[in-house]
Amino acid sequence: MFKDTLFQNHIETIKQEGRYRSFARLERRCGDFPRAHYYTPGGDVKEVTIWCSNDYLGMGQNPVVLSAMQGAIEKFGAGAGGTRNISGTQKLHADLEDSLADLHQKDSALVFSSGYVANEGALSTILKIMGPDAIVFSDALNHASMIHGVKSSGVNKRIYAHNDLDDLERLLREAPTNAPKMIAFESVYSMEGDIAPIEEICDLADKYGAMTYLDEVHAVGLYGPRGGGVAEQRGLMDRIDVIEGTFGKAYGLMGGFITGSRAVVDCVRSSAPGFIFTTALPPAVLAGALASVEHLKTSQIERTRAHTNAKTLKAGLEANDLPYLQGESHIVPLIVGDAVCCKTVTDLLLDQYDIYVQPINYPTVPRGTERMRLTATAAHTKKDIDHMINVLSDLYEEHRVFQFMQA
Ligand SMILES: *Cc1c(COP(=O)(O)O)cnc(C)c1O
Repeated sequence: MFKDTLFQNHIETIKQEGRYRSFARLERRCGDFPRAHYYTPGGDVKEVTIWCSNDYLGMGQNPVVLSAMQGAIEKFGAGAGGTRNISGTQKLHADLEDSLADLHQKDSALVFSSGYVANEGALSTILKIMGPDAIVFSDALNHASMIHGVKSSGVNKRIYAHNDLDDLERLLREAPTNAPKMIAFESVYSMEGDIAPIEEICDLADKYGAMTYLDEVHAVGLYGPRGGGVAEQRGLMDRIDVIEGTFGKAYGLMGGFITGSRAVVDCVRSSAPGFIFTTALPPAVLAGALASVEHLKTSQIERTRAHTNAKTLKAGLEANDLPYLQGESHIVPLIVGDAVCCKTVTDLLLDQYDIYVQPINYPTVPRGTERMRLTATAAHTKKDIDHMINVLSDLYEEHRVFQFMQA
């Protein structure tokens, strides 16, 4: 019967292509980040240093966040008890949404189960309302959640070359003048480590009458004087119609959100299935997110440390001629360019050096651009960074493991 072989064969294909995903079993220990216990496939436990976490600021272990969560469990219990519409909306949802609207200086905000669901729900809903003639202009490297949202809206899409203003303008110029338009893009591209030319994209949006939708998932908490993202840092928040973010990365928890005008946010609240037909986030997560967002509106220590560490890492890689993708952001990708090779290197790092970096393979990135994506968080020490640089340059010289690397 087909089911005896179909799925097994599919897995065999994935394995042959070197993109079979094995999840590292970790145990994060409170107060010890970026150290964690790693449970090896052989059943051993050892301490490793994590070099690929999105908990950029260590907020996942910040005492301010932990005590807010503990307090919320004691006061409000475990679950929200329903969907947002049917008894699930807590006062904490409203408080958190107010805090987010303030963060991005917008009328309204809406919280979702994750950043993925936020993008999918907001884009599909907004584009559908813009009508069958709407056209969305989408960066070629936009996240899967944005692609999914655009796809389920059913509207026409034009993909412009990554961060390429000329290509974007060419497509805008070719589109019918009267068609409702949206430009959907990210600020920090997490697999490239580069940052979009937000101001120039907004200029094009003005020129061609397009809405702007910006995913600041890898930037909220980390950029801007109050953690409002790259648009805040560059003084451009008022030029973006919808800013989308997550609590899953620099804020150290989980959950996603959008902010925008009252009408747009109300439309999404009223129509997005991924918002409506699911249980609301629990009080502990809401309280933790609120504490994290509020803390990072004033505290600069975590941001400063993370950016300093990223700079130190880049300088060290540079000094050792290790070719990394030179973006402006805190993310440092090292392209290996081959799935099997990438896995070999990261296995070596884990087995011999107690350094955990997950290989990034297709479909997260295109085939032939497999990479290691390094994140120096606020919690890494100068010693951690020096060690990482030394290990990488040793591997590079001795094992010639980067023979596939495209500089
Ligand atoms: C991680 C990510 C998301 C999804 O956010 P989650 O909260 O993890 O679901 C959305 N957009 C981008 C660019 C991301 O990297």
